[in-house]
Amino acid sequence: MEVTLLEATEDPEDLVCKAARNDYSGAFVGGQSLEATMETVDGDTLEAKKETLIGHLLDHGHFGPFEHPQITFAIEGVSRSCMAQITRHRHVSFDVQSMRYVSFDDVDPADVREGEMVVIPPSATDPEWVGRNQKQGAVDEADVEKRAEIFRDTIEDAVESYQELLDLGMPPEDARFVLPIGTKVNIVMSMNARMLMHVADMRAAADAQWEIREMTEELLDIAGEWCPITFDHYEREMKNRKNRLAP
Ligand SMILES: Cc1cc2nc3c(=O)[nH]c(=O)nc-3n(C[C@H](O)[C@H](O)[C@H](O)COP(=O)(O)OP(=O)(O)OC[C@H]3O[C@@H](n4cnc5c(N)ncnc54)[C@H](O)[C@@H]3O)c2cc1C
Repeated sequence: MEVTLLEATEDPEDLVCKAARNDYSGAFVGGQSLEATMETVDGDTLEAKKETLIGHLLDHGHFGPFEHPQITFAIEGVSRSCMAQITRHRHVSFDVQSMRYVSFDDVDPADVREGEMVVIPPSATDPEWVGRNQKQGAVDEADVEKRAEIFRDTIEDAVESYQELLDLGMPPEDARFVLPIGTKVNIVMSMNARMLMHVADMRAAADAQWEIREMTEELLDIAGEWCPITFDHYEREMKNRKNRLAP
């Protein structure tokens, strides 16, 4: 998968601070500088004041100001299974690559065996991989070879059948019914900083599936560059506390 930043609010943490200070200030935050707005917050520099205020907001569960900054990600090549999981989050906006208007008629089914078009989970090929709800621990090499063979044969067959149906004139929107849930999809998704922390609470957690966890960790890496004070605090003090932002 590839996760990239498409767009994001500029100076997101200035915005969080202005919004939060608005609540407790007699002055109009729209009519003064950030320095003036932050004047009474503890800290020797503006950066230190931002750290004080943002840390205080997060520690006290005052999450509203984090709803103002927005970020948009472009995600390439996650499974439709992962897509079904992430699209359950109702405060995230999505655009999802269509299988009605995009047909995979030029993919070579032989390449599908090697990871083209369909995500191959690590448990199909790695004997050391132990997934959640797995009935046993590590398995022997022969079993994993068999697993990989069944998995690769099945996805190759599915894509071959799909393309045959297209050749027989079936519309892509119906031919797609034979494709596996691991079929790759590209997604554009937007959310605010509060929602990103909520998504991370649920989807970076140990009980989430490996693929959405991997995607969420990449979202968090980007978020750490975008809102460094907020997501550094999140990683240090809040991550892995279940449902912290959704009481
Ligand atoms: C490990 C894991 C396993 C899962 N397994 C399943 C499963 O087997 N089957 C399944 O169906 N789902 C499953 N889910 C999905 C899960 O139940 C949620 O639907 C999904 O994670 C969305 O999160 P959310 O409920 O916090 O809502 P979001 O849409 O992310 O909303 C954020 C918060 O807003 C509030 N909110 C939003 N909408 C409403 C509303 N209509 N009414 C009241 N409050 C609202 C809630 O506080 C909510 O927590 C699983 C999730 C995880 C992380």
